[in-house]
Amino acid sequence: MIEVHSVSFRYHENWVLENISFRVEKGEFVGVIGPNGSGKTTLLKILYRLLSPQKGEILFELVPMKKMDRADIAKRIAVVAQETHLLFPFSVLETVLMGRSPHLGHLMFESEKDMEIAKKAMEWTEILPFSERSMDELSGGERKRVFIARALAQEPEVILLDEPTANLDIHHQMDFLDLILTLNREKGLTIVMASHDINIASEFCDRLILLRGGGIYRAGTPDQVITKENIENVYGCEVWVDQNPFSGMPRISLLKKGG
Ligand code: ADP
Repeated sequence: MIEVHSVSFRYHENWVLENISFRVEKGEFVGVIGPNGSGKTTLLKILYRLLSPQKGEILFELVPMKKMDRADIAKRIAVVAQETHLLFPFSVLETVLMGRSPHLGHLMFESEKDMEIAKKAMEWTEILPFSERSMDELSGGERKRVFIARALAQEPEVILLDEPTANLDIHHQMDFLDLILTLNREKGLTIVMASHDINIASEFCDRLILLRGGGIYRAGTPDQVITKENIENVYGCEVWVDQNPFSGMPRISLLKKGG
């Protein structure tokens, strides 16, 4: 569905992504992991064409993304970006309805169907009870759920998630991840998720891309990528890797220095 061919990107003089190539198949759940500053957010921004790479190209269902118009990209790819520090003078419902805007006709009025889709997205993310509240009055975690609802209301084929669980307590982390997994498994939605949480990425993703300094250090199944050697080489701290006793997926534990 997405093919990234030899992509390199720099903001100013320094390259932050260098010669990145990978594919995401339709219906896959792919995780992008790596330390702070390794290029995860930049890579996601390139995948929804907020940024254009100086080298290489990206194909979306065989079409070069730079040839697609923005409205088409917005209908097919939704993004839940990291928290921004803007103040939002909009209500929760208004924010979720923004997810429908790529689908509206020229008059830009929402139909009953748009309202129904937005409500369904709010039910899934458990934000319906505060649909009339202003975005300014929500906690970081609640706001995150509103942005997830907005992405779902977009009815995309691909969702890009940038640190989606960062502000969420474990109950809402699990609700959110179960919801994403259901959309992935039952509706065939393709997911690309950048995450700090290696254990979550291991549990939920089919395949992982481990970045180091703007390049792909390893890509493969969680078993292939999350090894003691790979994680220690990339993150520079000692870890223990065993298996989650319930799922059998690799699981890391942090080790105190000298402990
Ligand atoms: P990650 O998401 O893995 O933490 P980022 O993609 O945010 O990494 O950042 C990769 C590198 O690009 C970092 O060195 C960061 O400082 C730099 N960077 C990110 N955004 C900008 C920007 N807008 N202008 C200049 N440099 C940036």
